[in-house]
Amino acid sequence: MQHRAERIRKSGQTIAFVPTMGYLHKGHLSLMVHASNLADHLVASIFVNPTQFGPNEDLSKYPRDPERDAALAAEAGVDILFTPHEKDLYPAGFETFVTQEALPDHLCGLSRPGHFRGVLTIVTKLFHIVKPHFAVFGEKDFQQLAVIRKMTADLNFDTEIIGAPTIRESDGLAMSSRNKFLSESHRKSALVLYRCLTEARRMVAEGETDPQKIIKMSEAEINAEADTAIDYIAICHPDTLDDVRVIGQPAVMALAVKVGSTRLIDNRMLFPPGSEPG
Ligand code: AMP
Repeated sequence: MQHRAERIRKSGQTIAFVPTMGYLHKGHLSLMVHASNLADHLVASIFVNPTQFGPNEDLSKYPRDPERDAALAAEAGVDILFTPHEKDLYPAGFETFVTQEALPDHLCGLSRPGHFRGVLTIVTKLFHIVKPHFAVFGEKDFQQLAVIRKMTADLNFDTEIIGAPTIRESDGLAMSSRNKFLSESHRKSALVLYRCLTEARRMVAEGETDPQKIIKMSEAEINAEADTAIDYIAICHPDTLDDVRVIGQPAVMALAVKVGSTRLIDNRMLFPPGSEPG
């Protein structure tokens, strides 16, 4: 992969990159289509990265379907599908990691210690291998996009990071490889995430400025659903991820909820009146 990337760069052509953990869905494919319009060559990777999973998380049961993924990626315009083996990326004796000071101490980082250290390390490694001019990440993983943007700025990576919108099922559920684990009744309960985000957006558009009122409304909605457990509900500054005390500027509402044993995350921007993007 590194040699192919080097040859492409030497010929004066550009590379766009979409890293994934596979079990591809329309959210992944939309990133690929977006990326294919940015550069001469589109590289996607599939690698279920062990260093971003905690000891009690779902690494071993993370869904995989390499053959279907290869067909879908080709359809979406991927020129090179990079599928490294764990032993090649993390050989015995591997001991160097990328960490970040403040952003990981928010949202998902608090309940998944070490997660973003794993994400930043694998993204760094993949960028060194794929040498992309552009890399596209989903806004669905809002904090991930923020920590990657910060890392590439802080460490002078020569790759432009591009965020792409969340793709949803027709009823609003954000697409995720983990949705496969939802039973029929949990699939219905899972809709509460999007319902809270939509209601929050409406409240803020109508003038609500108090994050606590929105968080209380969401807690009540989520707790009314069977088999749900709130990890966090936050309304925060889109760059620093610090909680906002008054919603006077566009803010992001992010939530993480366990539905049965499946942890789901979602987020949406909230726009106070007059601050909507043009
Ligand atoms: P994953 O395979 O879950 O690591 O995701 C790979 C990339 O796809 C990340 O940049 C995710 O943010 C992005 N992604 C995951 N789900 C969606 C979605 N529903 N819409 C858009 N992008 C997504």
